[in-house]
Amino acid sequence: MKDATTRERIIATAQRMNALGINQGASGNVSARVEGGFIVTPTGLPYEELQSADLVHMTMDGNKKGRRAPSSEWRFHRDIYDSRPDIGAVVHTHSAFATTLACLSRPIPAFHYEVAFAGGNDIRCAPYKTFGTQELSEVALEALQGRRACLLAHHGAIAIGSDLDDALRLADKVEALARLYWQTLQVEEPTILDDVEMARIVERFRHYGVR
Ligand SMILES: [Zn+2]
Repeated sequence: MKDATTRERIIATAQRMNALGINQGASGNVSARVEGGFIVTPTGLPYEELQSADLVHMTMDGNKKGRRAPSSEWRFHRDIYDSRPDIGAVVHTHSAFATTLACLSRPIPAFHYEVAFAGGNDIRCAPYKTFGTQELSEVALEALQGRRACLLAHHGAIAIGSDLDDALRLADKVEALARLYWQTLQVEEPTILDDVEMARIVERFRHYGVR
């Protein structure tokens, strides 16, 4: 895909985050893999004002091309592309319900079968590390082992996918699941689906191409 098309799709994805209500101000960020690196949203610019030239092209060794500074979280974007060849896009949010659970350092267990959308029987919560640091990137990668989404304690959430649509769909799903889990917790701790059932659901999602 041409870089110009990728830039347009990143802007569309970022603006769609606003429409879905999963973005908080300019606190999230979006990127997509391109030849030799990735293109990421800049730091501190509202999505409705984003122009193609505001996006920042980063190489895998951390050099940037562009007039803006990249999102302060570029490190975990880079490290995800580096370690997960199947991944083509990353969506990071501070969406309200996912972040509420993250502030409680609370992973999302298999309280609902759709947790399997993230690739397994839970959506882990990485321990707190300062935003923008290599340490945060490392704990995020660990929480994403065998998964396509995780929470970041006292911070937000990450969803990854084969392309931008895929990652955005999952970011929205994670927020919906976080909200449902939060709601069930208001009544009582929900029972959790067992690992055998969740493995079956993961397999079904794979079989039906639902990701
Ligand atoms: Zn963040």
